[in-house]
Amino acid sequence: MATVYLSLGSNLGDRVNFIKRALSKMAKHPRIVVEGISSFYETEPLEYPNQAWFVNAVCRIRTDMPPRDLLDALQGIEKELNPERIMRWGPRTIDLDILLYDDELIAEPELLIPHIRLHDRSFVLVPLAEIAPEITHPILGLTARELMEQLTRTTEVRCLDSETSARKS
Ligand code: ADP
Ligand code: MG
Repeated sequence: MATVYLSLGSNLGDRVNFIKRALSKMAKHPRIVVEGISSFYETEPLEYPNQAWFVNAVCRIRTDMPPRDLLDALQGIEKELNPERIMRWGPRTIDLDILLYDDELIAEPELLIPHIRLHDRSFVLVPLAEIAPEITHPILGLTARELMEQLTRTTEVRCLDSETSARKS
């Protein structure tokens, strides 16, 4: 069984509900065990700043599926929840990305692990550091907390589960 970290994001419709529905579809999948879920965060979009803010979360799963099969399973869930996709990086009901798959390095045209932008996205690193602060990026050799602390681009990431709305980079 591999331990895998996934990123979930939504900025269309009932965003929190789409993330919950994706999590429940994962939990029902016969080859996925959902082990942990971060808080939900409301986050400023990095691309196309005029679009709605996202809701983002990170979860830890265990699976016996190899990475390629896991990607297919996640894309199946995306298709069920995303009737039509308009543009890349544009509005979407749900986006599911594989961040880390054990310590594996995968560089295929359709699959890059660790996720290519994991280290520079606050909306990924803040929830990842919440549930796995010591998890180490297998290429950069830095933990999620260290990567979060060295972010330079400032976009807003607000925890939806608490009253605090801290400005984090
Ligand atoms: P975004 O980069 O915002 O997630 P998309 O979800 O539209 O944009 O990108 C989808 C494509 O990214 C998929 O077709 C998939 O093959 C590719 N991809 C590469 N690496 C990964 C990964 N680690 N997790 C998920 N998709 C990935
Ligand atoms: Mg994606």
